[in-house]
Amino acid sequence: MNRRYRKTIIAGNWKMNKTATETKAFAEELKPLMSRAKWCDVVICVPFVNIPAALKAFKDTRITIGAENVHFEDHGAYTGEVSAAMLKDLGVKYVIIGHSERRQYWNDNDIIVNKKVHAAIDAGLYPIICVGESLEQRELGVTMELIDLQVKTALAGVPAEKMRHVVIAYEPLWAIGTGRTATAEQANEVNEEIRIIIRKLYGARVARSVTIQYGGSMNANNAQELLAQPDVDGGLIGGASLKPADFTAIINAANQE
Ligand code: PEP
Repeated sequence: MNRRYRKTIIAGNWKMNKTATETKAFAEELKPLMSRAKWCDVVICVPFVNIPAALKAFKDTRITIGAENVHFEDHGAYTGEVSAAMLKDLGVKYVIIGHSERRQYWNDNDIIVNKKVHAAIDAGLYPIICVGESLEQRELGVTMELIDLQVKTALAGVPAEKMRHVVIAYEPLWAIGTGRTATAEQANEVNEEIRIIIRKLYGARVARSVTIQYGGSMNANNAQELLAQPDVDGGLIGGASLKPADFTAIINAANQE
């Protein structure tokens, strides 16, 4: 973390978990635990249908609500899809784009990710862009090349002045939902590389100010060490964000003075 230059953001990704009723119960349990969240922003990204319940449940808190996906078109014949304008209109602030599960099961490739990033930014949403390598790619030694391609393609055509709305999440596929976390050094090494790519694209001032999270089995036990790294500006958290006590422990780790 480097609070002098950029925001620390702890974001939960609930994936396809919790009903609207469970969302309300989660909020009631989390709220009294949240007092120390002074130094970081807290976001919870929920399934589309839970967004109204989440907005209501977290109304008087510092927690902002995000979506887990968005379609890149404004409107039209795209049955089952949700546009950026629809999310914005509800009061959503963030949207996860290019999560590895979307890339794997719905073929959200880098070009689609780029279109979604533009749709989100144009509607005034803050994209959380996920990038990351598979275990095979890491073992082949192509992690940095892959990250380079994913980041550059995702940001193609995004002007510098919009970069203050953009969050990047480095999420190695082999660490997501596996219980196997990247070491703090591995996470920082890739996050630092992402910042170098952004510096080459947009210059030092923009690069310094962009929040770059780590995601992949971050939990109450490893959060502090990961967040102590200079280029790890927060976390995108799946499993541990579903339990109020665990999520609070991660928020507290981001609030160490
Ligand atoms: C994620 O879904 O983005 C994620 C990091 O999941 P988990 O924390 O469960 O590994």
